[in-house]
Amino acid sequence: MKITPLQNWLAHKLGVSGSSLNRETLEQYQLQKLRQTMELAVQHSSFYRKKLGGRGTLANLASLKDLPFTTAADIRQNPLRFLCVSQDEISRVVTLTSSGTTGEPKRLYFTKQDQELTIDFFQIGMSTLVGPGDTVLILLPGQLPGSVGDLLAQGLARLGVRAIPHGLLTDPNQTRQIILEQGVNALVGIPTQVLALARYPLPLKSVLLSADYVPRAISRELAQSWGCQVFSHYGMTEMGLGGGVECAALAGYHLREADLYFEIINPDTGQVVPEGETGEVVFTTLTRRGMPLIRYRTGDLARFIPEPCPCGSMLRRMGQVKGRVAGTCQLAGGRLRLWELDEALFPVTGLLNFTVTLSRTNHRDRLTIVVQMADGMNGSMQEVVRAALDTVPTIQRATRQGSLEICLEILPRGGALQSTTAKRLIKHL
Ligand SMILES: [Zn+2]
Repeated sequence: MKITPLQNWLAHKLGVSGSSLNRETLEQYQLQKLRQTMELAVQHSSFYRKKLGGRGTLANLASLKDLPFTTAADIRQNPLRFLCVSQDEISRVVTLTSSGTTGEPKRLYFTKQDQELTIDFFQIGMSTLVGPGDTVLILLPGQLPGSVGDLLAQGLARLGVRAIPHGLLTDPNQTRQIILEQGVNALVGIPTQVLALARYPLPLKSVLLSADYVPRAISRELAQSWGCQVFSHYGMTEMGLGGGVECAALAGYHLREADLYFEIINPDTGQVVPEGETGEVVFTTLTRRGMPLIRYRTGDLARFIPEPCPCGSMLRRMGQVKGRVAGTCQLAGGRLRLWELDEALFPVTGLLNFTVTLSRTNHRDRLTIVVQMADGMNGSMQEVVRAALDTVPTIQRATRQGSLEICLEILPRGGALQSTTAKRLIKHL
């Protein structure tokens, strides 16, 4: 099995050979980068000066756990207080509006050098699944310079791969034609968007699904439809877009350890959990200059995989992200998680996407589920979708108890495809 290309990338950055790279060398590098990041942040960011000033340097990697967290609310309140360079040096500002909640949007600032590190990671990460001569269609926002699609296209160009920035999918049939006419043999996109193409036979050799959370049911469906390898990428804007990518073993994300230091914490106590346990993903930037983040709480739930990867790399692996800390709701039958609904509903043939809203009426919970089906899906989808929902234990229990009512709405055929990169959540009314 081909070892993840991130292994040699990391070795090169550390100035050692790929085979002699070990955890000890990497951790020495990470400690040095963490100290530099703290120094930069305390000197130049008024937020971190107030938060961390007077703490002195980190004694070792383990002592990072004594530092306070940074939250999305901190960034929302005053993003400029995070800046460590003058505003002239900022080449890209990303504004994230949060779905489902009101309040200020989140702003993130990147320098040219920060973006260069992302392009570099994209180039190496993509070499896992494509090489010179391949043509990749990028189903991600890519119109603006510095957008995810643009940086990915730049990374692919360095790899000798032809990249076609497409933007989000709105008309699956039109996109199918582009794939066939342009000789596209690989796709990068958001899981629910790529799923909309699954019913067309397409000559694809590999697909990269990129999101904070990739439902396994979607990966399986795509691999079956096209007989191709389906890789997952984990990342978010705050990480500088790239966070980790699966190797040929397709068994967890190899993390971008040259640029990011990851921790998994108990979301209730804030304590680092024992290796292998699931908790909230927290990261610290190691090489970011414009707006470094220290112990940023992502709100995503995942675990480190302690066992060595079949590909032979020493890079740390993170298991499939199990949705958001906030992506759950409490029903009378227990806690319902969005990923449970994903794994139950996405295997339904022709189902493209859905939204979930929880409300309470007359002391009963009501889940309103709006389902979007592919064009041409006939028959009684109500029954099929209800049967799939009934496979989720929490829903089954609550329905049997009479404490839960499910309102299921199937969108009419030909309804416009939702195209958004927003994180999917269970909405509360
Ligand atoms: Zn691997």
